[in-house]
Amino acid sequence: VSAVEVTAAHLERIDAVDEKVHAFLHVDREGAMAKAREVDEKRARGEKLGPLAGVPLALKDIFTTEGIPTTVGSKILEGWIPPYDATVTKRLKEADVVILGKTNMDEFAMGSSTENSAYGPTGNPWDLTRIPGGSGGGSSASLASYEAPLAIGTDTGGSIRQPAAVTGTVGVKPTYGGVSRYGMVAFSSSLDQGGPCARTVLDAALLHSVIAGHDEKDSTSIDQPVPDVVEAARNGNVAGLRVGVVKEFRGEGYQAGVMQRFDESVELLRELGAEVVELSCPSFTKALAAYYLIAPSECSSNLARFDAMRYGLRAGDDGTHSAEEVTALTREAGFGDEVKRRVMLGTYALSSGYYDAYYGSAQKVRTLITRDFERAFEQVDVVVSPTTPTTAFPIGERADDPMAMYLADLCTIPSNLAGNAAMSVPCGLAPEDGLPVGLQIIAPAMADDRLYRVGAAVE
Ligand code: GLN
Repeated sequence: VSAVEVTAAHLERIDAVDEKVHAFLHVDREGAMAKAREVDEKRARGEKLGPLAGVPLALKDIFTTEGIPTTVGSKILEGWIPPYDATVTKRLKEADVVILGKTNMDEFAMGSSTENSAYGPTGNPWDLTRIPGGSGGGSSASLASYEAPLAIGTDTGGSIRQPAAVTGTVGVKPTYGGVSRYGMVAFSSSLDQGGPCARTVLDAALLHSVIAGHDEKDSTSIDQPVPDVVEAARNGNVAGLRVGVVKEFRGEGYQAGVMQRFDESVELLRELGAEVVELSCPSFTKALAAYYLIAPSECSSNLARFDAMRYGLRAGDDGTHSAEEVTALTREAGFGDEVKRRVMLGTYALSSGYYDAYYGSAQKVRTLITRDFERAFEQVDVVVSPTTPTTAFPIGERADDPMAMYLADLCTIPSNLAGNAAMSVPCGLAPEDGLPVGLQIIAPAMADDRLYRVGAAVE
């Protein structure tokens, strides 16, 4: 089939279902078809094509796209058209990927359900009354609804892996520094990491290898060769691999059917020749608390740039208000409740007199979590856990209860704090509700290939 046929088929699918799913904030029909035609013409002329030529993709609306709106799910960037491409966008274009459009997300990637989007929630294609996870619910829903075969997400505390788990798709948070953050709107810079989303482990690997690798425009980008994730995904051999099961990733709040599928996955790995080792990582119980100080602190600093002067929305600009009032009115109108909550929390945690007690303590816990992982990886090659404590919950159920919402990331946050690599891969449906369950695989920094090896084995 031609790239034009594939692209047209996906655009038709979007037309047929996206009114209900609402995975997309913006569909770039003309741009996608133009790219597809370009690919077909190049192919006809025998010209060299990129490694993912003609494959459609859904891009989270947190990556800048030259000439295409980028809202980050926020009213504050409504109407802003970026003048440049993020490095991820640029690499996708160079790989001859067809970008279908921009996907829905929690505002500024703050959330676990996509309900915090200023543009309305996304439905989970398995049950439209349930959440598709967040913040990258649009990207994962676009895969589960067959609107796109590939997607890109970002993961600060779980926003690639948690949506993957609850939609029955694959999502990978590469090693921190593995994928460039240039042009990815910043939430919490020491945690944010872009990565691939797909329906199979091999598809995720092919996308990973296209977007990853050193970028001089991102000072935290790792200047080392990208691990061979494609070979690992094709290989899938786990014989002799040491797999760690952490006892802190279990207990109160974990759904029975999620634990059942998790235990079966561990059993499967054992049958395939892996050696299973029980571990304890005591600091993991404090990860959520540390994250909810560090991430809001960094966001309070990053979001200061939305001052009504530089980008997007400007409220109260009628000649009767001072510049300071315009900034305040714009932030009042442009930011949603969760964003305001975090900016206030972060500003408080960083203020003089409180800094040591809050931000300082959280950084110490972060170090302890990193050490727990270091000790674990002396004994095992990968750690596995459920990706989420429960399957997809109903839209609205946790919307007014931030603490309940934050619990969705209980298992994913430690890897962001330590900066290592992690994947969610489907491992069956929970017997009690028939909804997808994700297995999380965690590997040391720059050993991303191990995720794909194990993911391919259990897929
Ligand atoms: N749910 C977490 C939060 O709200 C993680 C979000 C993310 O990874 N972007 O911060």
